[in-house]
Amino acid sequence: MASGIDATNPHSIVLAHRVLIAAELKNLLEPLQLTDLDITWLAADQPTPKGDWVAIVPLLSRWVGGTELKSLPSLRIVANCAVGYNNVDVVAAEMRNVIVTNTPGVLTEATADLTWALILATARRLVEGVDLVRSGTWSGWHPEQLLGRELRGRTLGLYGAGRIGQAVGRRAPAFGLRILYHARTPKPEFERETGAVRVDASRLLGESDILSLHVPSSPETKGMINGETLARLKRGAILINTSRGDLIREEALAEALEQGSLGGAGLDVYTHEPAIHPRLLAAPRTVLLPHIGSATEETRRKMAAIAVANVQAVLNDKPPLTPVFR
Ligand code: NAP
Repeated sequence: MASGIDATNPHSIVLAHRVLIAAELKNLLEPLQLTDLDITWLAADQPTPKGDWVAIVPLLSRWVGGTELKSLPSLRIVANCAVGYNNVDVVAAEMRNVIVTNTPGVLTEATADLTWALILATARRLVEGVDLVRSGTWSGWHPEQLLGRELRGRTLGLYGAGRIGQAVGRRAPAFGLRILYHARTPKPEFERETGAVRVDASRLLGESDILSLHVPSSPETKGMINGETLARLKRGAILINTSRGDLIREEALAEALEQGSLGGAGLDVYTHEPAIHPRLLAAPRTVLLPHIGSATEETRRKMAAIAVANVQAVLNDKPPLTPVFR
């Protein structure tokens, strides 16, 4: 701990906790949230330093594994500024008694909205339309121009039906879609609310017209969309991914798009961000976004606030608000 003077009480000595916070969060945080913190702002392109910091608030692009944890021997909490925490070695953290927290809930609706933006943009060929208008070559209304897919009467398949998967599903009845979902546990309230039906993975793949991925990245889910599973999708199906890029084998996806077996892909996330597989970049019928699922002003402020509130709680010997394990 570093010592400092409390501006409101010049006679008191305040001990500030040394913390590392992603520099990119600076504008999203209020001074009051940072009370009693002695902050080192850590830019995304800087390596994780060695030292006696007691907390770190990383972006999802920073790997926090065994080596980093060893370099930060006084660390008490990794407060990830994301709901996904596949950038943190949670086993190594638990072994060192370091708490790991995430930011669940606050980004659910924003990410579900963005998922729908991708569904609509892919089904209705929005990017091709925008490109055509901008190119100056649009020759006017034509009955067969940029024909897309009607959503009404089709089937939306949710692979994963937690917070975001369900929020995506709750928007589906308004578009006249039937909902199938696959998750480890049944969701009776979601089923009652939306008419969704829980099915096994095989049926989900075989019956979805739009397959939307909402499972976290984990050893079981990595690469789950590959040549073999893509071949089990309906011809012309649309694949949407706003979860994590490594759920999909990008080369196999590019091939399915090139061959025309897959009707389209709407993606927000990639295996090696910010790099995108060159074949996928060149593939037809794609809508590719730069990982902006939670990117609304309100949500990003809430995410930063929860991450720092977790730090404040733990450093004040209180339970974390949103731990990823207990
Ligand atoms: P969540 O509430 O934890 O939901 C995860 C769902 O996946 C649950 O339904 C869970 O099943 C299911 N699941 C987990 N492992 C599975 C497996 N092996 N097989 C089948 N189902 C499995 O998480 P969330 O808040 O919805 O977030 C989901 C993911 O979205 C996050 O992990 C994150 O990576 C991603 N995300 C991306 C963005 C973006 O900017 N694009 C923004 C926010 C989140 P049970 O319910 O049965 O446990």
